[in-house]
Amino acid sequence: MSSNKLQIIKTMQPKEKPDVNQVKFGSVFTDHMFKMNYTIDKGWHDAKIIPYQPITLDPAAMIFHYGQTVFEGLKAYRTNDDQILLFRPEQNMRRLNSSSERLSIPQIDEEEVLYYLQQLISIEKDWVPKDPGTSLYIRPFIIATENSLNVNPSCSYTFMIILSPVAAYYPEGINPVRIYVEEQFTRAVKGGTGMAKTAGNYSAAYNAQSAASTLGYSQVLWLDGLEKKYIEEVGSMNVFFKINGEIITPELNGSILEGITRKSLIQLLNSWNVPVVERKITIQEIVEAYEKGLLEEAFGTGTAAVISPIGELIWNDLSIKINQGETGETAKRLYDTLTKIQTGKISDPFGWTQ
Ligand code: PMP
Repeated sequence: MSSNKLQIIKTMQPKEKPDVNQVKFGSVFTDHMFKMNYTIDKGWHDAKIIPYQPITLDPAAMIFHYGQTVFEGLKAYRTNDDQILLFRPEQNMRRLNSSSERLSIPQIDEEEVLYYLQQLISIEKDWVPKDPGTSLYIRPFIIATENSLNVNPSCSYTFMIILSPVAAYYPEGINPVRIYVEEQFTRAVKGGTGMAKTAGNYSAAYNAQSAASTLGYSQVLWLDGLEKKYIEEVGSMNVFFKINGEIITPELNGSILEGITRKSLIQLLNSWNVPVVERKITIQEIVEAYEKGLLEEAFGTGTAAVISPIGELIWNDLSIKINQGETGETAKRLYDTLTKIQTGKISDPFGWTQ
């Protein structure tokens, strides 16, 4: 690890910290950010922590034209005894590299970047909020910076990490949401970029999301792009179902993003001797399970909310009410356990926090 290469320039004008419960998600940033550059001759170099500031790019910078970019999202939590914990950050670094591979972006040294992230967090530790459910959201990302309209991979890149204090996702405890099963638009297809965390996947989902919001639903349930038959994800979360006592989740098929929450919940359930079946699930199967009274729970999983119970699914005018619109026992137990591990309230038998 070449940690001695890190240059640190501290701000002379620290900002006033906001009341995190009053700020919109991802709209306030801390005093410092991490930045390093890539060129073909030097590789990744010039790693530095500097005051948070705008960056200057040429209008021809490739990121503006062909979307060559990847990002990550993870959180730092403050424990009751004022330690700062990161949850499985090495998994985010690994996923960043696998997204980069798909977008023809050069690989980072995962261990080295994790060290830089830890340095940044330790400089910004006072920005990690205290209130229950609050956290410091961490956004690492890479953009293509070569000035050229040529349609090919950039020869230069910038990697940055910015930090944003965020409020509790559910200030009044976890709350089931209403979900619209999306039939017109597609999030991702096999062979596409669905398994990568890259900008275009998210902007391409806005149309469906806004149509669902207009109808009064909070997210869409994404089906496969080819047959509109198999369930893939919910909003920007992975999805789990409990049918007749069995927990199932769509298998990773190349168009689903492999969530770190998903992976952790499968491990947690297995540690309770609850098997999780990863396989293809059709929307028809969910309807049939509902009609037979066997659909017990459904929930989305991701860093932002940890668990988002689904109280109702709407598919072709059919309203599928799940667990009378209440949070199910599995979702609740998973949420309680994982959030307690993340915030150091119970011991972490998996070694996930650091
Ligand atoms: N699917 C998509 C499309 C996402 O953007 C996310 C959020 N990263 C997830 C699933 C959940 O992933 P994680 O549990 O790592 O937050």
